Amino acid sequence: MSGHILVTGGAGYVGSHACKALMRAGYVPVTLDNLVTGRQDAVLYGPFEFGDLADRARLDEVFARWQPQAVMHFAAFSEVGESVRDPGKYWRANVVGALNLIEAALDSGCRRFIFSSTCSVYGDRDGVSLDEDTPTSPTNAYGASKRTIEEMLEQFERSHGLSSVIFRYFNVAGADPEGEIRERHDPETHLIPIVLEVAAGTRPHVQMFGQDYPTPDGTCVRDFIHVSDLADAHVLGLRRLERGEPGAVFCLGSGNGFSVREVVDAARRVTGCTIPALISGRRPGDAARLVAGSSKARRELDWEPTRSDLDTMIADAWNALTKAG
Ligand code: UDP
Repeated sequence: MSGHILVTGGAGYVGSHACKALMRAGYVPVTLDNLVTGRQDAVLYGPFEFGDLADRARLDEVFARWQPQAVMHFAAFSEVGESVRDPGKYWRANVVGALNLIEAALDSGCRRFIFSSTCSVYGDRDGVSLDEDTPTSPTNAYGASKRTIEEMLEQFERSHGLSSVIFRYFNVAGADPEGEIRERHDPETHLIPIVLEVAAGTRPHVQMFGQDYPTPDGTCVRDFIHVSDLADAHVLGLRRLERGEPGAVFCLGSGNGFSVREVVDAARRVTGCTIPALISGRRPGDAARLVAGSSKARRELDWEPTRSDLDTMIADAWNALTKAG
């Protein structure tokens, strides 16, 4: 059954957009999700398998049934703040889950692995742009769990010939331009969806966490990348593995930094809504500035983001939100 790609977390935000990109590129995504944070109604492309990465027997069943030619591994807990409060949850679900998945893949003969990692592996390196050569130094359990999985993949590549592409995401934003799928977290903690909930009138105001950072306007600076551009990079990563090229790490960002205040202003401009904003204290674990400095993905994968300007990302997210009612 060539053409099947196992997508863990395919019912989540990034995973569901990756499934759409895979289907468009001629693959059949098979979503494996425990629906703890994902939603089954986000699985619009390809079959759905319910299951948890802790359940090795279930993983073996899914691999035997679909014989995927590659795995795209999105399923993970991903809140920095929560990982500071509850590190055990992150080590258990993210690291042990990934280990089970890697071993199940190898036992089934599947040796291509695409992994969603994060710029949180860098920790707090204010002032510098971050690329694949920047030393990692995670400062919270989320970033540490992702960095550990990267190391596992590097070791399994050496010992078992598992080829992996590791993508370090910056701030993923926007939604499917056709509005079929979008970002939905419960509770929502991310800046752009929160700002748009305020615009839609379902939340009274946005709190801007900290205005005393060493940045031009005092609020944190982030590099936002459109989720559909990010999904396209995964298809290109898969093609790289199919060509038999060695595993590699790629940063996925736009290379442009926007402050929290600039994001709120852009959302006011795009939506035409007032969007009340209050200043509050810093959020623990936040770095002042996280911006990608790399063009390696553009160079080596021929990746060209097309929707990652701030207004387009906000407009696509707003369109998907208002379309969903
Ligand atoms: N942020 C904010 N108010 C919010 C949510 C987020 O000021 O209600 C800030 C947050 O402190 C960070 C930036 O927006 O500086 C991006 O946060 P988000 O949670 O969206 O992504 P992260 O960078 O943590 O992955």
